[in-house]
Amino acid sequence: MMNLEPIMDAVRRAAILCREVQRHHLGQSEKAGHEPVTIADYGSQAIINQAIRAAYPHDGIMAEENGKQFMELVLPEQRAQIAKLVSAVMGRVVTEADVYEWLDYADDAATERVWVIDPIDGTKGFLAMRHYVVAVGVLEAGQPTAAVMAAPAYPNTERGMMFYARDGKAYRLPLMATDGAEEVRATTYTDSAHVRVLESVEKSHASHDRMEKVRAYAGYLDSPFERVDSQEKYARIAAGDGELYLRLPRLHSTRGHSTWDHAAGAALIMAGGGKVTDIDGSPLDFTTGRVMTNNQGMIVSNGAIHERVLDAVGRVLAEEAANPQQ
Ligand code: AMP
Ligand code: MG
Repeated sequence: MMNLEPIMDAVRRAAILCREVQRHHLGQSEKAGHEPVTIADYGSQAIINQAIRAAYPHDGIMAEENGKQFMELVLPEQRAQIAKLVSAVMGRVVTEADVYEWLDYADDAATERVWVIDPIDGTKGFLAMRHYVVAVGVLEAGQPTAAVMAAPAYPNTERGMMFYARDGKAYRLPLMATDGAEEVRATTYTDSAHVRVLESVEKSHASHDRMEKVRAYAGYLDSPFERVDSQEKYARIAAGDGELYLRLPRLHSTRGHSTWDHAAGAALIMAGGGKVTDIDGSPLDFTTGRVMTNNQGMIVSNGAIHERVLDAVGRVLAEEAANPQQ
């Protein structure tokens, strides 16, 4: 049985760092480009990588950022700021050299078990004070088997929610609590009044038009509907706070989905009794490295409505095939 405690501790600290940056450094963004995101991204990844390497020294780590960029793209004063923030949330002195070293624990080496990290998922949401998560997934032979996810802006919470999945079960606890976890399950709702539908806020991330057609064909056009940033969408369905998350790329999009944008979410939803597949109903393929090159999109549901939604997706795909010039 895998002990996730040290990773949960790191993810909680990373979320505290993100909140700190969001509260006190975000105002600078207008004139300083993407600096606040940069600071929080590197800080969060360094903390999590360090914890994984300490607890699971033989496992692989796949993560979005790297040390070379930290040295080459981040201004010296920002690097100092990152080290200072990491020191504060870890409660020990951490130098820029430590941060640099920790960032590069991520190596993509082919190992049986790989930790997949998105230090801030939903960057646009983070910047706009909407939703974002700190996401850590575990892939074993390409299968999403465990996850730790901090959702600082989770609805109806004071300071956010922590989710984790392990041994086929999903749990949640208040983000700032260290005990009192409860098991969560996806719902069994199928009727349109109860099916809560989620999708990306950003039009560039997924096609709002295509997804509207799917909702119409599945009978969920008038259902409760919300646009939410980040993998919080997966967590909501795993925890019974949502039923359907559609992610259909814009037509002719050539941008693949990043593995770290889905590994943690997929582990959570599967452990919570929900379902995630590609848009053709096949399992998500996490075996292709950093980019999910075999993937056409994601259908995430409570399980109960999955077939019905796949049928609707199939109709949309058939129509598009019949009218290729769209
Ligand atoms: P969401 O908040 O659910 O829209 O997902 C945020 C993630 O979408 C970010 O971490 C990006 O890596 C990813 N992303 C950005 N553009 C695209 C795109 N065109 N297709 C798929 N994912 C994207
Ligand atoms: Mg992301």
